[in-house]
Amino acid sequence: MKKAAIIGGSMSGLFAANFLKQINWDYSIHEMVSEPLSGRGAGIATYDELAALVRLTTGYKRSLGTSCNERIVLDKQNSVVTKMKYPQVFTSWQYLYDVLLSNVDKKKYFLGDECIQILKKDNINTLIFKSGKEIQADLIIIANGIRSNIKKIVDENEPEFAGYVGWRGLVNESDLTKDTFDLISDYFCFVLPQNQQFLTYPVAGVGDKGLEKGKRRINWLWYKPVSMNEYNSILTGKSNTKYQHGIPPHEIKDEFIDNLKKEGQIKLPSSINELINKTEQILVQPIYDLKCNKMVNENIVIIGDCAFTARPHAGMGVTKAGFDCYDLMKSLENIKLENLNNALKLWEQKRIKEGMFLVKRSREMGFYIKKDESIIMPRDEIVLNETAVSIKKINDYPNKSNLFN
Ligand SMILES: Cc1cc2nc3c(=O)[nH]c(=O)nc-3n(C[C@H](O)[C@H](O)[C@H](O)COP(=O)(O)OP(=O)(O)OC[C@H]3O[C@@H](n4cnc5c(N)ncnc54)[C@H](O)[C@@H]3O)c2cc1C
Repeated sequence: MKKAAIIGGSMSGLFAANFLKQINWDYSIHEMVSEPLSGRGAGIATYDELAALVRLTTGYKRSLGTSCNERIVLDKQNSVVTKMKYPQVFTSWQYLYDVLLSNVDKKKYFLGDECIQILKKDNINTLIFKSGKEIQADLIIIANGIRSNIKKIVDENEPEFAGYVGWRGLVNESDLTKDTFDLISDYFCFVLPQNQQFLTYPVAGVGDKGLEKGKRRINWLWYKPVSMNEYNSILTGKSNTKYQHGIPPHEIKDEFIDNLKKEGQIKLPSSINELINKTEQILVQPIYDLKCNKMVNENIVIIGDCAFTARPHAGMGVTKAGFDCYDLMKSLENIKLENLNNALKLWEQKRIKEGMFLVKRSREMGFYIKKDESIIMPRDEIVLNETAVSIKKINDYPNKSNLFN
């Protein structure tokens, strides 16, 4: 049986294992975090393509989460100024993780298993782990995210800061006043202050009844431009620790949260300020672009965010990870190992085209989130039409007619 070793046990790593299973490859997944992963990134916008990828790998046919039928833009006075019909399902990172994990063999999912290096041993690419363990496999899949410590063996590009951060939070619907609940809870809702974007959508709440209206949570995100000085200062914690790319929520200095709330009073409607004020734990995430020129080196591939990370406006990170793995499965189906490299090269060509496209498109979608007051904001309709939409709705998406070949 052919065997793959997968580094990273999040979305990409799990999709890879699930798809390889379908073509009778053996696999092992190595995740550095020592507990089952939880709660990352909260809300995830989904499309028919993502639901199809999950169904194809796991057989899971139920809805992936909560749904909205319309998108709206609010002005400062809480009035709906623009509306667009666009039915869409929103899930949570946790929900998808659980579905994908439930279908892999737990004996092959190793937690607390950090890979620190890939070296040639007797001319064979070998994974070296922190524990001292060494592994060789027919195929090595690097799926360890935007900050990968090992992907440079395939591609040396580094993430570039996009010039803005996303502040984010979750609020129980049951904690909202009736006016705010009625105004936003059924919608994918936007506010567009000059050079900024605020958005909300409902995601599952906790427990069995978490998908019921009133028991869900509202996920919010506020994209705001920052100077390099502000960026450094946001990433310096209460303990004076300087974090590199992201800061644990308990370390975010109170002054930044206070300033966020004050700015909200000036720029956002009262319903949205209520969300911010009722959020128990506000998080901040700097936004980056990452491209790569290569996804293959010999029998090593990179997939998911460690290959391409697009800004979140396209909302395609998880879907892209799924297609990296779906296409990989198609390329590996029925091949002999001596043809592996050729198959991977063809896979790489297709995946690079899509990755480049998504990074460029997401950059263009976020062009106005910049410290430049002279920028003319896009029309509401454009933001509603383009943000986190299905590939079906993106005219120039590469290979669009041949996604599931
Ligand atoms: C603000 C924001 C909003 C987003 N919204 C959406 C959305 O609506 N829809 C969507 O599809 N996507 C969205 N995304 C993107 C999505 O979250 C990512 O694309 C997705 O999580 C990438 O998965 P991944 O497995 O490639 O990487 P990651 O999720 O980063 O996982 C990498 C894993 O590798 C592990 N690891 C790291 N190094 C090692 C090592 N050396 N050894 C072993 N394990 C290691 C890590 O612990 C981690 O578990 C959003 C992202 C952001 C920032």
